[in-house]
Amino acid sequence: MSDLERPPLPPNSLIAVIGAGAMGAGIAQIVAQSGHRVLLFDTRLNGAEDAQKKLATTFEQLAAKGKMTSDDAQAAAGRIVPIHALGDCVSARLVIEAIVEDLEAKRELWRDLEGVVAPETILATNTSSLSVTAMAAGLKYPRRVAGLHFFNPPPLMPLVEIVSGLATDPEVAATLYSTAAGWGKVPVHAKSTPGFIVNRCARPFYAEALRLLNERAADPATIDAVMREAGGFRMGPFELLDLIGNDVSVAVTTSVWRAYSNDPRFTPSAIQQEMVAAGYLGRKSGRGFYDYAPGTKKPIAHTEPEQSAPGRVVVYGDLGPASTLVERMLAAGVPVERAKREGAFPTGVIGVGGAWLALSDGQTATVRAGASGAHDMVLFDLALDFATCTRLAVARADTCSDAAYSAAVGALQAAGIAVSRLDDAAGLVVLRTVAMLANECADAAKEAIASPRDIDAAMMKGVNYPRGPLAWADTIGVARVRDALANLAAHYGEDRYRTSPLITRRAVSGARLID
Ligand code: NAD
Repeated sequence: MSDLERPPLPPNSLIAVIGAGAMGAGIAQIVAQSGHRVLLFDTRLNGAEDAQKKLATTFEQLAAKGKMTSDDAQAAAGRIVPIHALGDCVSARLVIEAIVEDLEAKRELWRDLEGVVAPETILATNTSSLSVTAMAAGLKYPRRVAGLHFFNPPPLMPLVEIVSGLATDPEVAATLYSTAAGWGKVPVHAKSTPGFIVNRCARPFYAEALRLLNERAADPATIDAVMREAGGFRMGPFELLDLIGNDVSVAVTTSVWRAYSNDPRFTPSAIQQEMVAAGYLGRKSGRGFYDYAPGTKKPIAHTEPEQSAPGRVVVYGDLGPASTLVERMLAAGVPVERAKREGAFPTGVIGVGGAWLALSDGQTATVRAGASGAHDMVLFDLALDFATCTRLAVARADTCSDAAYSAAVGALQAAGIAVSRLDDAAGLVVLRTVAMLANECADAAKEAIASPRDIDAAMMKGVNYPRGPLAWADTIGVARVRDALANLAAHYGEDRYRTSPLITRRAVSGARLID
């Protein structure tokens, strides 16, 4: 996107925030803390005053915790000025709207404001899903409209997507970029397309988990534990959905799905829609994927019982990203042999007690066993870091014997890893999720919605991923991601798992997704 640099708005410039709800109040807090005077407007009776009072309490609490001085807290509260008419925005240099998510309401607001503010005043929208291009169309100066998309809660989430519509002046986007950076945020440029970066590229995080649940591959607690303890994600998908609200999540998914002409990659989950219909919205309704009623214990992840440590393991070929697993086994006192003669054996596997233990490649264990002739096949999932992960998901081929399966589990347990067995799901949990996240990010990069680096930064700073999906694909090998997607596509026979042309290209050329 734009490489243009522009200085930030000076701290003495007046900023108006329209809409004093959850987002508007949070944005007003950031802006006031950064030294700007903030005009706050809401059509709700006393909405702006109530938000101002709450923010004054927030500043006091921050001072009590030592996060700011009490003088600064008082000064910040004093800089937030509730107003009762849009006409009071006349001197604003920037207006940020965070009103109801309705295109017509937002258009009407901008039309009204154009009659009030100077032609060079920037009009920024916090919309999550509406087109910035459509919002600016018909205005006298559409070039000054851009998205300034904060994440919830704005004071805590670092990412701000600076969204340019077709008519947005690059200088406007550049000014918002440096201004947001000056507020201590991590800005990234994005084009106005459905979901921008994060709300589009993060869909597979939820979609793959919901699909596994639909297939009864595992329960939510097990999938969440695998995503946290193997994937390194701060929260599992079901925990996060309960926090966000299933209603909000279904609305975002449906809006992105419709905007992309019902692309099967974004198809809303039937399970989740049923939950919304039942009122199981998540924490806010007391029940979602988990039950939040007082006294209810959170279910625990399925974990295989302790098996004995193997007498030895034999490593065949290169284990790729999972190589450090063997070092953990060795460090735990398990004798490790490296097979000299390969050829007749599958490569990239650990032989243990008759089992063939291998990293998933997107096939089911049963199909891979059938294709390789290694009937006692046990596949394990991808981990963010095999040197430190505390849990791994495994899948056992239908042809695998009990004794061989126990030996495979014992080898992983000897390395200090809890084992969660899933039904024989293709690509297990972390691998299929990471492959699909990287796939979506690659398409977003190919469509120049943002630069590959900005896309990864957005996923780390907007939704707290432990590693950007494109960098993750580079780390495990783009060809591995391509193969996993191809195997998932073959397994399901669905267009949903089609490979991004950028992944296909880079897998062949050997070039990285992030230079
Ligand atoms: P909210 O319902 O908490 O607040 C909206 C506020 O706007 C309300 O106080 C309402 O009275 C006021 N309002 C409505 N119409 C108005 C108008 N015409 N003029 C002035 N005030 C008006 O909603 P929210 O969660 O703060 O979301 C606001 C915007 O931010 C939406 O566009 C939403 O899509 C976007 N957003 C929300 C989130 C989130 O997680 N909640 C995250 C990013 C972006």
